[in-house]
Amino acid sequence: MLHRATSILVAVLASFVVLLTVCLVGCDRPAARPTVNATPPREHAELPLLVATTPMVADVVRSVAGPRAEVVCLIGPGVDPHLWTPTRTDVLRILDAQAVFLNGLMLEGRVGDAFARVESMGRPVLRVAQSITRTELLTDPNRASYFDPHVWMDPALWGQTAAPVADVLSRLDPTHEGEFRANAALYRERAALLEKECEQLIASIPSEHRTLVSAHDAFAYFGRRFGLTVYGIQGLSTESEASITDIEHLVAEISARRVPTAFVETTVSDRTIRALVEGCAAIGHQLKIGEPLFSDSMGRPDTPEGNWEGMLRHNARVIAASLGGVVPGASR
Ligand SMILES: [Zn+2]
Repeated sequence: MLHRATSILVAVLASFVVLLTVCLVGCDRPAARPTVNATPPREHAELPLLVATTPMVADVVRSVAGPRAEVVCLIGPGVDPHLWTPTRTDVLRILDAQAVFLNGLMLEGRVGDAFARVESMGRPVLRVAQSITRTELLTDPNRASYFDPHVWMDPALWGQTAAPVADVLSRLDPTHEGEFRANAALYRERAALLEKECEQLIASIPSEHRTLVSAHDAFAYFGRRFGLTVYGIQGLSTESEASITDIEHLVAEISARRVPTAFVETTVSDRTIRALVEGCAAIGHQLKIGEPLFSDSMGRPDTPEGNWEGMLRHNARVIAASLGGVVPGASR
């Protein structure tokens, strides 16, 4: 009898254990595979992961890292970095990265605290534009304590960002330091060649036509380096809206200078440029709209403008062609 009772108790306990196990495993399952929290799949999971915000930052990091790392760019072609906010997937990438590279100088204005969290974990976060010599940076004409973040528009300045990237990569992977330093030197040399090429294109524009009008104030460094007077309808950030008074002033200025062409940008609405064209037409000045310029983003990866050099070359050629300059190999 006792033996039978013990057998029943053992059977009940065994069933309870089985049930408990099923429950624990079952209850555990949703927490163990939270697909929304899963790190996104990678193309080269065997390599260290480096994360860059803009395509221009990714360009310099890829060029210095070569085949030694996988570089993931968070902001895609045509996306405005001033208005970009990281998605949940972006944040997971950032937290998973061995090092993170931003433009800085408040370009990525809505970035939140993800980068501060990476820094608090002791991983490198490099703001590449902030590594440029302070005296070479331009300030925001409307906010004196802020710097203009569009430094990739000046090849000589952007070439300076390769060495600090090499510093970070060398700390992460000291055995390949020589390779990173050589790649950084090559990037700077290519930047110097690009500077000469852009200089020749812009110098071919008749001096009275060297005025660049664009949708937002992204070209001040380009204008300073190559001798163009620059007007942006919106301010340094596309978050600020141009007022009717701003547009009226610009219409008067452009008409007085007989500027032939204004440029739209791939990341900014053409609404204000169209308002400018209409304003000029109303006072008898015909302002054309030029081919789009790449300001805060590059072209798609499979196009000639899908890298930083190609992007600047495109801009310089389009500006020169539209303002009466000489463009080698152009059909017009
Ligand atoms: Zn911008």
